[in-house]
Amino acid sequence: MTFRTRFAPSPTGPLHLGHAYSALLAHDAARRHGGAFLLRIEDLDQSRVRAEWKELIYQDLEWLGITWDEEPIKQSERKDAYLSILTGLYPAIPTFACTCNRRDIQQAMGAPHAEDMAFGPDGLIYPGTCRAHHYDLNSEDLDTLNLRLSLNQIQHDITPITHLEYSDISFSNRILSLMTLAEFQDRIGEIVLWRKGYAAYHLASVIDDAHQGITHIIRGQDLMEATHIHVLLQILLGVPTPAYHHHDLIRDKNGKRLAKRHDAKAIRKYREDGATPADIRRMVGL
Ligand code: GLU
Repeated sequence: MTFRTRFAPSPTGPLHLGHAYSALLAHDAARRHGGAFLLRIEDLDQSRVRAEWKELIYQDLEWLGITWDEEPIKQSERKDAYLSILTGLYPAIPTFACTCNRRDIQQAMGAPHAEDMAFGPDGLIYPGTCRAHHYDLNSEDLDTLNLRLSLNQIQHDITPITHLEYSDISFSNRILSLMTLAEFQDRIGEIVLWRKGYAAYHLASVIDDAHQGITHIIRGQDLMEATHIHVLLQILLGVPTPAYHHHDLIRDKNGKRLAKRHDAKAIRKYREDGATPADIRRMVGL
């Protein structure tokens, strides 16, 4: 079996125990299977990314004893690849140009209070305001446009895959049943694929997993819903769907997710306080 997996952190802060758990799980699985473990730096969101966080990712991973097998890829360097795939595959990946900001969406939903709004894994479920916008993907200025996936123009016959099973016997098997396009419209909606000159996370992630030949994706349960988006995009892009394993999230003593805590202790802090990589493994239950 070919086994290629990856760790794909966003350098928007230091790595914490949850990241270490994800990276170690994927790394150990790759080594057990004689496969490859790859690193991808998801540094698209220039307003939140910092060079020092990028550097710290490499340092923390090396300290944890994690080695990667190929030159890491950085999403900030792949804008042209995303653009040529998005435009080259049009209209297989149908899009419409969207000029709505958050307020417009809120108003269109007739929901003045945040708690009344429908959220999916890509944020607010889009009410469809700009759905009928006509535009020419080849001549528009993509540096100023937002593009959303046009679900009702999808030509493919999307037969939902009903089961994707993670095949590594040393993990519990989890089954992911995928949704139909109608369910996708209700629960996720017309997601943003391109945001003012940059590929959005979902598009970039799927293109890069295919580019890096990833066969197994090991990541937290917080991304379970996003996986529905990724599988649909894989079908539209005509690339294989990897096997997925969504692992439990690391929580504090009170059950609160570490990623949600502002004071979650960074791996760097543990290092400075004299912890060893074996201590980190113990703390995350490995
Ligand atoms: N970069 C994202 C994160 O750190 C996504 C990771 C993924 O697709 O596994 O949450």
